[in-house]
Amino acid sequence: MRDKDYIYDAIVIGSGISGGWAAKELCERGLKTLVLERGRDVTHIKDYPTTNMYPYEFAHRMELPYAVKQENPIVSRCYAFREDTEHFFVKDNEHPYIQDKPFDWIRGYQVGGKSLLWARQTQRWSDYDFEGPARDGFAVDWPIRYRDIQSWYDYVEKFIGVSGNNDGLEILPDGYFQKAYPLNIVEQFFREKIESRYSDRHVISARCAHLSNPTDVQLGQGRVQCQNRKLCERGCPFGGYFSSNSSTLPYAAKTGNMTLRPHSVVSSIIFDEATQKAKGVMVVDAQMNESMEYHAKLIFVCASTINTNLILLNSTSRTYPTGLGNSSGVLGRYLAFHNYSANIRAEYEGHLDYRTDGKNPAGGGYIPRFRNVKKQETAFLRGYATTVNASRPEVSDTKGIGDHLRESLLNPRLGNWRIGSHIMGETLPKESNTVTLSETQKDRWGIPLVRIAIDYDENDRLMTRDYCDQMSEMFAYAGFKNIEAKVKDQAPGLDIHEMGGARMGHDPKDSVLNKWNQLHDCKNVFVTDGACMTSVSTQNPSLTFMALTARAVDYAVREMKKFDL
Ligand SMILES: Cc1cc2nc3c(=O)[nH]c(=O)nc-3n(C[C@H](O)[C@H](O)[C@H](O)COP(=O)(O)OP(=O)(O)OC[C@H]3O[C@@H](n4cnc5c(N)ncnc54)[C@H](O)[C@@H]3O)c2cc1C
Repeated sequence: MRDKDYIYDAIVIGSGISGGWAAKELCERGLKTLVLERGRDVTHIKDYPTTNMYPYEFAHRMELPYAVKQENPIVSRCYAFREDTEHFFVKDNEHPYIQDKPFDWIRGYQVGGKSLLWARQTQRWSDYDFEGPARDGFAVDWPIRYRDIQSWYDYVEKFIGVSGNNDGLEILPDGYFQKAYPLNIVEQFFREKIESRYSDRHVISARCAHLSNPTDVQLGQGRVQCQNRKLCERGCPFGGYFSSNSSTLPYAAKTGNMTLRPHSVVSSIIFDEATQKAKGVMVVDAQMNESMEYHAKLIFVCASTINTNLILLNSTSRTYPTGLGNSSGVLGRYLAFHNYSANIRAEYEGHLDYRTDGKNPAGGGYIPRFRNVKKQETAFLRGYATTVNASRPEVSDTKGIGDHLRESLLNPRLGNWRIGSHIMGETLPKESNTVTLSETQKDRWGIPLVRIAIDYDENDRLMTRDYCDQMSEMFAYAGFKNIEAKVKDQAPGLDIHEMGGARMGHDPKDSVLNKWNQLHDCKNVFVTDGACMTSVSTQNPSLTFMALTARAVDYAVREMKKFDL
């Protein structure tokens, strides 16, 4: 390789949801872009080995053997970790980390990152979310509001394809949607009951990054309508849902401007004391175990929240001895996540003349946040959204033996309708929620292990109790029976929505990034994954990461052209 092979206009670290967007936007603007990905390559369709397999073709009929669960207690707690998907998850002992407090860190290290595994739920933030910290007095004020990002939500939704309805709710802004997956009969019944009693509670069709009615934009990406197979986490050969592999990365590649380098673990960003800018990154080739440097004018850090914190903290220099962008001392602090610690189930004895086949890829209904929206009304700050989905399971009588057993297995009957919901609460970004680096322990490439200290608190416990009370009351009002609320003793992390550590803010003294996701301390480095989030709202986060990424690239390239970067 010659020296010039190591020099690019831009480097993107990570190829997941945010990195894919950064790559597409940079390449479309003509920048020669190097995408560095620590994991292996995963090419759309070709590398989805289980995508067309029948259950009987799996050695364990899609169940994980006991030994795999014993060896991988953390990742086994994730509902999507199964025999058909396990190849896209990081196993517990492959990439160790230190839990100063219990934290289930769920990861996907491959080209595409977790975009292959996500549940595709996509909701916009509203100003009730962006104004939360300023109004309720936690974290710092967001340097942006909904109007700053609205057109970027439009831009992203038009490209990725999102199914949903324009529901006209202030709390959950409308967008560019393809036709929604309808609620089933019992979800609709619940909706009518709830909306007849509460003016501020709404049961809507979940908004989801699935193609229910693809436009020319998605057909041009080689993607077609979702086939409702619900085998999404195996990788979808139809491109029926959005992933980096099916959408942004091939689009970036088509420009001829992208170089994708898998097996490239970025250990740090190199800061040039003379120019006070970053000049490139240090990489360890994961296969050769060889270190190398790549240089670029612009660097986008999209390695996912905790890895992005790790890279910045590990990028020490004379000017920034505690990590790049850390003149404020807040890097690696104020992380938060989503409170997924409770669910409720109930039964309904009516509507027995209807059934479902359970093939709604959007997952059913969604109740946007209704607590503390216009005023503070509870003992806890902020609020929660919830899912709602109903189905009618088949029940077999497995008692007995011989003919009776065979008959009942061959002819299962349909039971009563079951309805379920789980909490998606906003946790507060506390200073004590931290990511730091071990001073003694390193990974196999010589990079310090990350230490995670993040926990639930009294605000979350009060919120969880309120969710159980409110949802139980709503199910009871609608006539559901056998209502069971369950508070789970689960560690943070399993929500897979960890955010913060390099928060955005107005003031370089108490934030790491400015309103353009640009390091206050180093103008040519941008952080656009979850690490940038000042607070976490109740909505699923990835749509906001994508919109912030596209917006930041647009700004960075404009600044670059003015020679301000
Ligand atoms: C089962 C599941 C369900 C989910 N459901 C939803 C949902 O419904 N809605 C939603 O909004 N979100 C959901 N999420 C979360 C969503 O997947 C993440 O928010 C999203 O993928 C984050 O994007 P990202 O680009 O920051 O990280 P990722 O997509 O994880 O990509 C980061 C990439 O960076 C690479 N990388 C890491 N460190 C380095 C390094 N040092 N050098 C080079 N490369 C590196 C990783 O290998 C990875 O490929 C879900 C996640 C899972 C696992």
